[in-house]
Amino acid sequence: NKKPKIVILGAGYGGMMTASRLQKANAYQDAEITLVNKHNYHYQTTWLHEPAAGTLHHDRTRMLIDSVIDTNKINFVKDAVSEIKTDEKKVILENGELEYDYLVVGLGSEPETFGIPGVNEHAFSIRSVNSVRLIREHIEYMFANYNKEEEKHDDYLHFVVAGAGFTGIEFVGELSERVPELCAEYDIAREKVKIYSVEAAPTALPGFDEDLVTYAMNLLEDRGVEFLINTPIEEVTAEGVKLKGGEEIKSRTVVWTTGVRGSSILDKSGFETMRGRIKVEKDLRAPGHDDIFVIGDCALIINEEINRPYPPTAQIAIQQALTCAKNLKALLAGSEKLQEFKPDIKGTVASLGGKEAIGLVGSKKLFGTTASAMKKVIDNKYLYQLGGMPLVLKKGKFNVF
Ligand code: FAD
Ligand code: NAD
Repeated sequence: NKKPKIVILGAGYGGMMTASRLQKANAYQDAEITLVNKHNYHYQTTWLHEPAAGTLHHDRTRMLIDSVIDTNKINFVKDAVSEIKTDEKKVILENGELEYDYLVVGLGSEPETFGIPGVNEHAFSIRSVNSVRLIREHIEYMFANYNKEEEKHDDYLHFVVAGAGFTGIEFVGELSERVPELCAEYDIAREKVKIYSVEAAPTALPGFDEDLVTYAMNLLEDRGVEFLINTPIEEVTAEGVKLKGGEEIKSRTVVWTTGVRGSSILDKSGFETMRGRIKVEKDLRAPGHDDIFVIGDCALIINEEINRPYPPTAQIAIQQALTCAKNLKALLAGSEKLQEFKPDIKGTVASLGGKEAIGLVGSKKLFGTTASAMKKVIDNKYLYQLGGMPLVLKKGKFNVF
């Protein structure tokens, strides 16, 4: 009478919260649970724009997995997933393989390049601790090199952020706060530095509340950000970006934030996907696979009110994890009656650097320090849900005003 095996892939918002909930519900008594992740730490993807710009140390965004999950109750395997073999109920890892009875896929997302040439070769992305540490170091290296070289290379001080969605805007916000510090540190006049926010759509943050978008753009422009709106990037090269219409911006630093697609592991494993995401059933299982739950950025769910997919967010990933853990508990108890997932969207709050932010919570618009304080409350709430007050005290954000 062997215990069924539950394998959770990815320790992001979705995977960590599923593991933590199963642990709290004592599911390890009825199942052998294994969490697999590339790193021995969990990082908060939603904070990564800060270490990318260098306004927050990357260690603040991460925590060791075994400081939150009791590895006597849930096995932890540090390894990278390479493929899911659904017909054999197996996961192939870089250094081994795992069998499962139930699988939870929470592998997150990858940058969407839309096949634009040069993105993979020449642009940076805000995806992981490793990727953002590199951006921070590279920016600083550009500043350090500028005065060292006899012939001045202005492109060292041109920073292009591709896409003015939430990730692009939040990063530009941090960068515009960091640049004056770097200018002082490296003896460079602020006017020499250019930050370009390049957006294909007719506005930054397309689809978001107009008053809040105007507030954000005015604030960022006051900090010296130049918006190029209605301007799709068509190519990235070693020298910079080529825009629609033929114009070029010379830059050594292009940060690519034009949206995300689901983990490439899903396509590789033969699942049917849309932009790399599996359109899940109401109970979060993959169609045709009663043993596989898909959550977070790997899952596609439709907002029936507008008949369009919900944008992938941490907010939804966390809520899906709670439903997924309940449904796994039900299956372990022998019940086939699973809960349907219903997102409860509280709103959207985006930081703009420093104590500035914008937010829409219900129908209430938030600006400036109020929005910024709200953002910290949201971040701390997640830490509380995951690891209670001790984790909030260790990793939370408190410099509210
Ligand atoms: P993730 O949290 O990204 O976790 C995926 C995990 O899988 C990672 O730990 C990764 O290391 C691991 N992994 C990946 N591939 C492998 C592999 N092959 N093998 C093993 N492990 C692997 N959403 C909001 O709701 N609010 C916000 O304010 C917000 N801000 C954001 C700010 C930024 C800068 C960014 C980039 C995103 C933001 N988002 C926000 C979106 C949010 O971060 C994602 O929707 C959320 O992280 C998705 O959670 P997830 O669990 O699916 O994936
Ligand atoms: P996004 O899809 O929200 O925005 C991408 C932007 O890039 C769009 O405005 C698009 O028009 C633009 N774009 C696409 N191709 C382009 C091109 N060739 N040249 C110039 N611009 C181009 O993606 P994101 O900002 O990466 O966010 C990913 C997900 O994470 C979203 O679901 C978002 O809601 C979520 N997120 C939320 C927050 C928050 O709530 N504070 C913060 C960051 C991200």
